[in-house]
Amino acid sequence: MLQAAAEPYPAASSWRPLLTKNPSFPDISPYLGRLIAFRRDMHANPELCYEEHRTADQIAAYLQALGLPMVRGLGKTGIVATLRGRGPNADAPERSIGLRADIDALPMQEHNRFAHASQHAGRMHGCGHDGHTAMLLGAATLLTQQPDFDGTVHFIFQPAEEGGAGAKAMMEDGLFTRFPMRAVFALHNWPALPAGQMGVRAGPIMASANRFEIRVQGVGGHGAQPHTTIDPVPVACAIVSQLQLLVSRNLDPLDSAVITVGQVEAGSMENIIPSEAVIRGTCRTLKPQTRKLMHEGIERIANHVAQAHQARATVNMKPGYPSTVNHEMEALFMAEVMREVAGANMAHGDVLPAMTGEDFGFMLEAMPGCYGFIGNGPKNGPGVNLHSSDYDFNDDVLGLGATFWDRLVRRWCKQWDTP
Ligand SMILES: [Zn+2]
Ligand SMILES: [Zn+2]
Repeated sequence: MLQAAAEPYPAASSWRPLLTKNPSFPDISPYLGRLIAFRRDMHANPELCYEEHRTADQIAAYLQALGLPMVRGLGKTGIVATLRGRGPNADAPERSIGLRADIDALPMQEHNRFAHASQHAGRMHGCGHDGHTAMLLGAATLLTQQPDFDGTVHFIFQPAEEGGAGAKAMMEDGLFTRFPMRAVFALHNWPALPAGQMGVRAGPIMASANRFEIRVQGVGGHGAQPHTTIDPVPVACAIVSQLQLLVSRNLDPLDSAVITVGQVEAGSMENIIPSEAVIRGTCRTLKPQTRKLMHEGIERIANHVAQAHQARATVNMKPGYPSTVNHEMEALFMAEVMREVAGANMAHGDVLPAMTGEDFGFMLEAMPGCYGFIGNGPKNGPGVNLHSSDYDFNDDVLGLGATFWDRLVRRWCKQWDTP
């Protein structure tokens, strides 16, 4: 069994825990020292997509100390640990849920100078997945210490969120078939939201992120004799400007999408008309049907604008993560738990969605569930956001996050009790 407060608390000046206002919930504070030490060690030793071997070993060691059975190797480096509560209906299918934390870091250089800064050049926990992992371990600790709930919880530690689609990889390795569950939940820290606050919304909360490439094929030649060529450069320019009309003229003004062309490549010299021009961009949408609309629009405009000028366009859509669409019932449920744990005026049930991407969207395509935010606050200064070299997860909210997960599990199980 895990020893309470096995590690000394970090200096008080660097840590002001925000805890739940509700004294009837299990107390996380005896375990916070250990959890913060775990989080900072993970921060100092970041590992990238599918290379989270040390990270997985550390998580497994923690879970083993709790006495939890686990399966390793889902999605290469993922882990699922399972805790069955003591209640008589713990195996009832509707009482089983999954809680997911992502565990990978980013390929970027950390600028922080504190003691737990990354020890590896070019790798950093710049998205706070170290904090997500520690919060979920905190929940596993609380629920193991007091297993007086009537249901089963699967703790999902997922690799490769940052571009590697680790969620999909775990599903392909049987996440939802080997560990049957009725719903799946996840939490992401959010610097724009003050520490201590939480937020969620029903419907889309993060965008689908898709890349596209358009190759415009013409006929090259001398810059002084354009009539003997089919110049792909003005055609590419026309396609780029026409693409802007998709969002402004084809899309419902109350819906959202972004089309950004970030790369245009053509030619080698000022007086040579090239035979090809290449356009690359990103297309982000909140709704699956909008994604389809935009993709069809990009193909249509590229092909027809090229055709109008006797050139030929080849469009290659590269679908990325789907949008993360929260299921309504689960979102309402999560919002209730947030109000209970953070306090009514600190919990928001209608936060704005973000145009960032998240592979939890794959899980929500296959399983009811919900993805919410826990406020991180602008901890390292205003404007320090996720994926910034100055970012750090805010340890003050670690206990709140762990308590939130604990409460969510207990409440989920309780809702099936017959009065
Ligand atoms: Zn990220
Ligand atoms: Zn992230």
